Amino acid sequence: MTLENFESVVEKKIVNRGFDYYEQDCIETVEQIDEGEFCAEVAGSSLYDVYVCIKNREIIEHSCTCPYDWGNVCKHVIAVLYHIRDAEILDEKPEFSVSEQAKTLLKKLSKKELSQFILNYLKKNKGFREDFFENFG
Ligand SMILES: [Zn+2]
Repeated sequence: MTLENFESVVEKKIVNRGFDYYEQDCIETVEQIDEGEFCAEVAGSSLYDVYVCIKNREIIEHSCTCPYDWGNVCKHVIAVLYHIRDAEILDEKPEFSVSEQAKTLLKKLSKKELSQFILNYLKKNKGFREDFFENFG
């Protein structure tokens, strides 16, 4: 799936809803966190976090925190794809790299500090807890 053909690849119903979201300004923020990687907040019945990774205009990876996970792509991801394509932000360089920043910090932190943070965060964030146990459990 690419930035050019997603409209014909994804189910029409989802594409139309995504386009409505895009047109109705449901995208609160879009941030390029690394080259070709974008995080966006999209307002629906709740505020959802969308992540997309695009290399050479091909959509390599996408995810959304909404409960719609039985289809391939949700309307929130589609809305963000429209935004990225129309705003032509793909060729902009990210202002900072999240992975570079995180790596620098991770080097400074002790295992104890990191564990404490993860433990606290696990208790307070359901999505993170589920991801954590799914990955490492
Ligand atoms: Zn979604």
